[in-house]
Amino acid sequence: MSVCKTEAITLRRTDYSDSSQIITFYTRDYGKIHTLAKGFKRIAKKSGTKAVDLLTHNQILFIKKEHTTLYTLTEAILQDSYPLLRLDLDKYYRASYATELVNEFTEENDPSEQLFDAFRETVRGVSTDADATIRMLVFEIKLLKISGYLPEWRHCVNCKKDVQQRAEAYFSAKEGGVLCAECGTKGRNGIMVPTGSMLIAGRLSELNMQKLERVKVPLPICVEIEKMLRYYMNFVLNKELNSWRYLRL
Ligand SMILES: [Zn+2]
Repeated sequence: MSVCKTEAITLRRTDYSDSSQIITFYTRDYGKIHTLAKGFKRIAKKSGTKAVDLLTHNQILFIKKEHTTLYTLTEAILQDSYPLLRLDLDKYYRASYATELVNEFTEENDPSEQLFDAFRETVRGVSTDADATIRMLVFEIKLLKISGYLPEWRHCVNCKKDVQQRAEAYFSAKEGGVLCAECGTKGRNGIMVPTGSMLIAGRLSELNMQKLERVKVPLPICVEIEKMLRYYMNFVLNKELNSWRYLRL
């Protein structure tokens, strides 16, 4: 048995009994973990506060026991509840989408400080930005990069030719990147995407998430990149994500 302390963002909550919940967190030091929060609901009722809300940043203490991956949550100290998210449905959906992505792309107990920091910065930014379109794209691409799924956007994955000079090329989820006109065939090998959009997607993967304010990408290009990312993630995860039903492209 060991007591662990870490920073955590709430991913999911499900009721376990009248007074207990199972809370899934993405933590900085332990990756995704499931915890049993006994009595947290009761305490919340008494004090009139919400126990551990979704999409909040907390400092948590939990107890790890042998032979089980369901840990016991003993304390959660709220660091940031991102109140602006709760006043704007679009912002809330976007932050929820980031949460769904983290949940889908991570395994239990496989920590990445880089992913935690990118995730926290994204939730914070989505809550305060007037327009978080580019921030969300950067997060999706960084998540793919950190998870080892970053596609190749510049050189044809088959013949290695640089596609920069071409207007359009194919993007193949199955092949993990761009295919030049000679190597790709629409339908069979993917979707057609303007190469300019793919090159911008590649550049977004290099950006510092704290310095996104000055980055400008025209909306139609953002839409093209988002479509390509959804097509690709659909293939990687082998399913559609719930958030896509709520989020406009
Ligand atoms: Zn080629």
